[in-house]
Amino acid sequence: MKILVADDDKIFRSLVVEILTDAGYEVIAEENGLLAWERLRAEGADLAVLDVNMPEMDGFELLRNIRAAEKHKTMPVLMLTIRAFVEDQVQGYDTGADDYLTKPFDNDVLLARVKVLERRILHK
Ligand SMILES: [Mg+2]
Repeated sequence: MKILVADDDKIFRSLVVEILTDAGYEVIAEENGLLAWERLRAEGADLAVLDVNMPEMDGFELLRNIRAAEKHKTMPVLMLTIRAFVEDQVQGYDTGADDYLTKPFDNDVLLARVKVLERRILHK
């Protein structure tokens, strides 16, 4: 199970990578949406954890690209944001996000949400 992580905040990116790596997942991480999109196209991933606010390409645009790509469109995507605004979450779901988590989050909650999305892949 390979997870793509994209977050421009170094602290959160490192935290997410650590939580997922410790849980036994293979993790690839990038600091903006554009780099993450290039990495995904180059080597693929099974699941993605994407920050909403990022330079170059934000999480929504990256999510739109993922949903428009035949190879990746069914990939489960968990969106992260420091903005707890309802509009943000609605836009996330409208764009095709599978789940939404606001920062700061509890480590165990992030892992639990990822496991739910993983079950969806395994039971497909
Ligand atoms: Mg950000």
